[in-house]
Amino acid sequence: MSDALPEIFHCKKCGDCCRGYGGTFLSQKDIKAIAKYIRTDVKTFLANYCKFSGTKPILSQDKNGYCIFWDELCTIHPVKPYMCKAWPFIKSVLVDAGNWRIMSSMCPGINADVPDSVVSKCVAEKLI
Ligand code: SF4
Ligand code: SF4
Repeated sequence: MSDALPEIFHCKKCGDCCRGYGGTFLSQKDIKAIAKYIRTDVKTFLANYCKFSGTKPILSQDKNGYCIFWDELCTIHPVKPYMCKAWPFIKSVLVDAGNWRIMSSMCPGINADVPDSVVSKCVAEKLI
């Protein structure tokens, strides 16, 4: 979660994006990196830290509703999944800048009070 471009986004570190069943999808690259970081193997990682949405692995939630790796901050920050690294500079905002305002209702770090053209330009620059 980048805190660059503070005029349109500045992470408040509230953890709201780490809570709720939204489905933090994992790529094969994410899976390997996280398993290595927590010093386990891929099979054990998938069995103990993931659920499946259809055939796609997603991070499990703890009983408190937060991501299994949330503990007042992201405990796997250096290897957090692409989805977490990219937020909120994501492709769907380039498709429709209106998504930026929708996302702002879920993320207090997003400044929704900026013109669509500025949002599109910033997101295009920050897309990873
Ligand atoms: S919801 Fe937004 S402001 Fe809160 S931690 Fe996530 S990215 Fe940061
Ligand atoms: S991996 Fe880290 S940033 Fe991503 S949802 Fe879990 S705690 Fe949040």
